[in-house]
Amino acid sequence: MTDTNSMPAGGIMAIPGQIDPVPVPRTAVVDGVTPRADGRIDLMGLPRKRIAELFEQAGLDAKAAKLRAKQVFHWLYHRGVTRFEAMTDIAKTMRPWLEDRFVIGRPDIVEAQHSTDGTRKWLLRTADGHDFEMVFIPDADRGTLCVSSQVGCTLNCRFCHTGTMRLVRNLTVGEIVGQVMLARDALGEWPKAGGNMAGLDEDEDEGSYSADGRLLTNIVMMGMGEPLYNFDNVRDALKIVMDGDGLALSKRRITLSTSGVVPKMALCGEEIGVNLAVSLHAVTKDVRDEIVPINKKYGIEELLQACADYPGASNARRITFEYVMLKDKNDSDADARELVRLLRHYNLPAKVNLIPFNPWPGAPYECSTPERIRAFSNIVFEAGISAPVRTPRGRDIDAACGQLKTAAEKKSRAELERLYAEKEAELGSYRLGCPVTFLRTNRH
Ligand code: SAH
Ligand code: SF4
Repeated sequence: MTDTNSMPAGGIMAIPGQIDPVPVPRTAVVDGVTPRADGRIDLMGLPRKRIAELFEQAGLDAKAAKLRAKQVFHWLYHRGVTRFEAMTDIAKTMRPWLEDRFVIGRPDIVEAQHSTDGTRKWLLRTADGHDFEMVFIPDADRGTLCVSSQVGCTLNCRFCHTGTMRLVRNLTVGEIVGQVMLARDALGEWPKAGGNMAGLDEDEDEGSYSADGRLLTNIVMMGMGEPLYNFDNVRDALKIVMDGDGLALSKRRITLSTSGVVPKMALCGEEIGVNLAVSLHAVTKDVRDEIVPINKKYGIEELLQACADYPGASNARRITFEYVMLKDKNDSDADARELVRLLRHYNLPAKVNLIPFNPWPGAPYECSTPERIRAFSNIVFEAGISAPVRTPRGRDIDAACGQLKTAAEKKSRAELERLYAEKEAELGSYRLGCPVTFLRTNRH
């Protein structure tokens, strides 16, 4: 069950943000199904069991519904087809019956950009008209898709860019899985060179189109939003992404980044089992309270204890601590030494990702100098903890999340200032932020 299930039609729901719960209008979602204007049901994001239930409700007997659901699940998520007519192991007469009642959706693409360094960025739109982002970052040995979990974010990290956008809502399971599907579409990575797989038989050799040689190898939940404030949908989406008969990505190649929603961290390890990244960003209460305000609710000690207790963390599967480098704010040698002390104190299997701050118009911080970042990195590294500096990617297309959306909206500076003022009045003294970075992610 998702937290959206109990929503009345057109109801108001608070995304469970501790700092600034903001009521947001929701579209009616009943058991994971968002009604469409034409009455058909979008299967994107639904698990086998739910697809079988819907087939049964539409008139198939239980046994047939279960069989068809299994077949459709495979075509949907493993083969990437978007039309029932391409499902060649389903009887020809059955396919129009399905087409009349169901669809296989994708988020709409508003804008797609391609950087000279290979980074690709998409501005996407939900069926009810909300924009969000997705970025693909190719590297020599991997390709990482940065996926969004919410439209906006209820948390207001001061260095993050979401403040120029309004918080709208949690993304549904379909909208989260849909991002991965779209990326595979764009990269032409469905079995047998992409597109619809008409003509393939069910028993054809799957080995020929397994993960080997694919561009998209890793997923990071580091796009817009706080994934642990949309826990159920993120979990259900990642389960489909990890399903051996679905997108079949290993949990070792998926990383979820949280700003520190402590009560959900253990659950994340138990129910999702992916790698954890924690946006630490500061080592003292004062500074972390200022730049990552959720710290006022769940402090550094509590957060690091939750990391020490994270199910599945080990030296082989270390927790990544993200640390954005802000000039004269959190970047001193003393900060670096304190970081080492804290990680040792909690005996954490840790690696540190140093992220050069990605500036945006009106941001209250500057990025640390390269020399400072190097000095900080050296202190951590000499203590035996890996501390790579992430390389900014896609600068020419503003591949920092939040920037494409803002550019597309073409807001003037005056408008942005007005929005800030509104938000600040609404939420207290913090600026809204946004996920702005996609860089090289953890090496597993
Ligand atoms: N809400 C989650 C995940 C999305 S943000 C979280 O906060 O962890 C993904 C990462 O980008 C986080 O580490 C976040 O702190 C970082 N980030 C946000 N804005 C940034 C900026 N302007 N420059 C560099 N990193 C930024
Ligand atoms: Fe939200 Fe941005 Fe803070 Fe992540 S860094 S919790 S997206 S405001």
